[in-house]
Amino acid sequence: MEIKVLMCNCKGLCDSFKDSDMNTLPFEVESDLDVKYTVLRPQLCGQGGAILEEAMKAAKPASYLLVGAYAPKAQEKLFKKLIRATGFNEKHFIPVDIRGTDNNGILDRLCEAVAGILKQEEANPATT
Ligand code: SF4
Repeated sequence: MEIKVLMCNCKGLCDSFKDSDMNTLPFEVESDLDVKYTVLRPQLCGQGGAILEEAMKAAKPASYLLVGAYAPKAQEKLFKKLIRATGFNEKHFIPVDIRGTDNNGILDRLCEAVAGILKQEEANPATT
């Protein structure tokens, strides 16, 4: 089982992310959480979507994608087509709202999401 973290801060100038430091955040995430890698890519729902598409296509059955951006419900709706087109397991797409907080707040939210994945894996382990 592996977890990859992709984060998006809109165009980088959005007020929702004004309290976070996106330069230091990827390193902090990788230091605090057991994840394969962390990538920050603005405009995941636009030009940056190519990286999400590649991560979905390259995913193994036991890979999880933790996507830190805006509201989870909106992410599910927006990325539904991409999930279908790539054949990615929708249960392994974990959207997290990282808006309106600082780096510690984002780390807490991601940590909670990782704990949720571990629980899900315990109940229903994926293979390879
Ligand atoms: S994925 Fe969400 S956070 Fe990223 S650019 Fe689109 S609306 Fe903004």
